[in-house]
Amino acid sequence: MMKLAMTLILFLIVFSSCGKQKSTLLIESVKPLTTTEIPQDTFAKTREILQHFNAQEEEESQISLKDLGNLQTNEGLIKVLPFMDPKSGSKFFLNIKNKKIFGYQDYGILKEPDFQISLRDNGQTLHAPVFYQHIQSAKLNSTTLPLLGLRIALDPGHMGDKEWDRPTGKYIHDDSGNILSEGYINFIVAQLLKNNLENLGAEVLVTRNNLHPVSKLPARTFPLIKFARTELQESTLKPWFLSLLNNASSREMLYDSFEKSARLRSLFSESRRSDYFILRADLDARIDLINRFNPDITLIIHFDTADRLDDPQSLNPYVIQATKGFVVGSYGANEFSSRNQRKFFIRHLLDSYSWQTSLDLSRYLITEIKNKLGVKLASSAGPESIEVEPGIFSRNLYVPSRLSPSAVAYIECLFYNEPKEFYRILNLTDTMAINGHTYPYSNRLKQVANTLRDGILNFVRK
Ligand SMILES: [Zn+2]
Repeated sequence: MMKLAMTLILFLIVFSSCGKQKSTLLIESVKPLTTTEIPQDTFAKTREILQHFNAQEEEESQISLKDLGNLQTNEGLIKVLPFMDPKSGSKFFLNIKNKKIFGYQDYGILKEPDFQISLRDNGQTLHAPVFYQHIQSAKLNSTTLPLLGLRIALDPGHMGDKEWDRPTGKYIHDDSGNILSEGYINFIVAQLLKNNLENLGAEVLVTRNNLHPVSKLPARTFPLIKFARTELQESTLKPWFLSLLNNASSREMLYDSFEKSARLRSLFSESRRSDYFILRADLDARIDLINRFNPDITLIIHFDTADRLDDPQSLNPYVIQATKGFVVGSYGANEFSSRNQRKFFIRHLLDSYSWQTSLDLSRYLITEIKNKLGVKLASSAGPESIEVEPGIFSRNLYVPSRLSPSAVAYIECLFYNEPKEFYRILNLTDTMAINGHTYPYSNRLKQVANTLRDGILNFVRK
């Protein structure tokens, strides 16, 4: 009886696993610092350490943020800030005075300027960004080509090749040896959806037209050093970095303690190769493709699993089928380490059009999935996210946080380790051909693609 109870607990303790695009590679939960805990020389010492390890000086933020002037109001800020920054980490580098936001490079000290951006008065006219104008114009389109004039980017998450199943962990098997790779399912849905959207007049980019990674870097041999240095820049507010920084009593000790640190050395070690490739290089390649395409709408397609603790890759009969979407936000206390990370945060905080339109698009998509596929809206999405409205959560995911302003939805369509769903998706009755390769797929994935098409249509029309 005891054993049965334990097994049940194991089955029931599940956690949503798909959001492994989390922007930090090592997730650390820390309490935000208070100003009194930050010694005055922290910024100077941080700079010295970054220089010592040849981390390149970061670009000026002001140039890339200049377009954000007069977009956000004070009231808009108050509304969005709890979802963007629930731990209030931004108060250590931002100051709001006289309808202006002042950003600082020296976290917690606020003396070394970084950028300044004007907020908008309530009565002041607002010029809608181009992507928003395109979406508005499309409302006047004919019913035969309702998406004419719109540019839509689709990003099927992960890779679909069997060789990537183990490194990414994004696959599920049953007891008979049937395997479904999430990267394959995402790819099929994206390709079917592409055809759907093109038939309705849209110009569509899919980031991946095969089952390989999007990055062209040689996965086994690319040099790690550039990634390690960026990782170091993004670690400066992590407890291990701050503790080394503040415990050294001289310059010599400072360099010495960092050089000997196991945490620092691990950033530069081969053990990080797979993470740097999967969670950085490959995602950077997608971001670059999407930003160069300059879309009005972006849809990042994923399927989720609720993992069994005893075997995360197996079917889980206790999963309650649900769908959910993510918008940018829920920055962790140490996710403001680099100037670059803060720049992306500010961009989403101040670009009210992009954030609100992304929320609207996500709502249309998950509502359509709920109604057409008969599933619930997820009631939670893990500890690193907070609910913005039913089924939609804010989270600092790597790709959406780095995309240029547009309507962006990151959808976890369904749980594919729920047994019934697994076998529906596995029932491969159709095929499609892309660049000479044949890909089998199920009617279920066609249903998902049609549902996403209808969600986009509803969003554009209403
Ligand atoms: Zn995924």
